[in-house]
Amino acid sequence: MEYRAGTASELITPTEPLWLAGYLARSEPAKGKISDLHASALALEDSQGQRLIIASIDLIAITKVIADPIYQAVEQQLNLPRERLILAATHTHYGPEFRPDKEVFFRIPREYGGAKITGIAKKISDALTRVILDACENFEPVRLFARITSASFAHNRRRAGVKGGAPSTEDILDRDVPILDVVRADGSRKAIVFGYACHNTTIPPEDCRYCADWAGFAKEQLEESNPGATALFITGCGADQNPEPRGSVELSEQYGPEIASAVQASLTGEGREIRVVGRMRREFGRERIEHRRPRGERSDPSGHDDTSRIYRLVVGGDDAQGAATCFDALHQARIDVG
Ligand SMILES: [Zn+2]
Repeated sequence: MEYRAGTASELITPTEPLWLAGYLARSEPAKGKISDLHASALALEDSQGQRLIIASIDLIAITKVIADPIYQAVEQQLNLPRERLILAATHTHYGPEFRPDKEVFFRIPREYGGAKITGIAKKISDALTRVILDACENFEPVRLFARITSASFAHNRRRAGVKGGAPSTEDILDRDVPILDVVRADGSRKAIVFGYACHNTTIPPEDCRYCADWAGFAKEQLEESNPGATALFITGCGADQNPEPRGSVELSEQYGPEIASAVQASLTGEGREIRVVGRMRREFGRERIEHRRPRGERSDPSGHDDTSRIYRLVVGGDDAQGAATCFDALHQARIDVG
């Protein structure tokens, strides 16, 4: 099987002061930026004309409100069904908040909520749609390689020892950095997709500046080291992992190059290289997931305390005991090795 790939990227750093996503501790809107935020897309097409699109954005999450208009536009304009499109967020905690339920959760002042939040969601959807359509306009022949490396700054945040500076050797960790390496006929890089199961939460919440955190610094370094390449980051299942130690811009600027250098070493021949030559397959489904209030958290059987109220808003449940059910989207894409 042979492949073609197209890429596109767009700057999405807001030019106005918006409320930042990710922390309750914020007391003011964004004041300037530490680094830029981007929306990027990689479109892949095999020699049978099958397409798979991966799009990633420097934001805390992709929600249904963001995703649905993109799926509709892609279906209408590219005739691609939903299962052919993977949307990912880098999970930076230093991008604009666009989720209406977080107005209560993060106590966002009225002037930064409401219509403003709805407007941000629309801009995000539009930017992602544009990069996806643009990526399908510059296809060129490529070879695909699967690689894997690791980075050491992710720690299990559920252990008290991490915060005290003494992580346990018994902590469960996932430090794999999977890579999809997209190489042009002349050997230069068209795209580098890499992942790490870790929050982008290195900078203190009180620092209200836009930033893509370590994933952004890593993408920047990879694009500088590989002229003409688009770097895309996909967060793995990293809810339990934080960068540690954390709490400064300097640490963020240290973790970015750490993971980028590991990826770069892997691109240039360190470790295992698997040439991908198989067909592209994808699955999309919605899975029923039971949510339960974490053990030890305050519980008010009347359901009138703040935690219960926020819990119901976030997971959509109405069980005062703290249990709820929702349907989460599950999306898997696989390109066979051979
Ligand atoms: Zn997070």
